[in-house]
Amino acid sequence: MNKFELRKINSLLRKSLNQVEASDKIVLKIKSLSDFLNAKNILIFYPLKFEINLLELLKVEGKNFYLPKVKEDYLEICPYEGELIKGAFNIMEPLTKPVLPSVIDLAFIPALAADKDLNRLGYGKGYYDRLFSNPLFSAKKIAVINKELVVDKVPTDNFDIKVDAIITD
Ligand code: ADP
Ligand code: MG
Repeated sequence: MNKFELRKINSLLRKSLNQVEASDKIVLKIKSLSDFLNAKNILIFYPLKFEINLLELLKVEGKNFYLPKVKEDYLEICPYEGELIKGAFNIMEPLTKPVLPSVIDLAFIPALAADKDLNRLGYGKGYYDRLFSNPLFSAKKIAVINKELVVDKVPTDNFDIKVDAIITD
């Protein structure tokens, strides 16, 4: 199966899943992760329709949270300070100025598919591959994904960058 076909199949499958329940489970798991407990500067993402929603994490005290902002063909990392506006692709994003990617120590990443070898499939724009390939980015990368969307083998190209772990519901 190629990336295009897998995106189509998993997008369709994802629409049938209970994302409120799955998100609650994943948020609970994250809150007990030592990586999370030890991290100070954490990148999450504003969920698109049908994506896992981690926004509940923003209520955790003692952490700095960041959200990505789509800028042309790359992602900026902006501190979350409570206020959000609609940005590119209608995704909510902070109004704050971006920080250097080196600030982030832990990053939670959305995925449309993932496999046990930690390969990740996105929507086909390669935003996260580009962020991960930035030498200033050294955070631990954890993909959050429904268990139903984990496959045997995600098709990969040489520019694809693996995540460091996967969390499912
Ligand atoms: P996704 O990771 O969102 O599933 P792909 O892996 O298919 O999407 O990548 C989409 C596009 O992003 C590819 O055409 C590729 O050329 C581009 N891309 C990926 N990584 C980089 C990078 N480090 N620099 C520039 N372009 C990149
Ligand atoms: Mg990719």
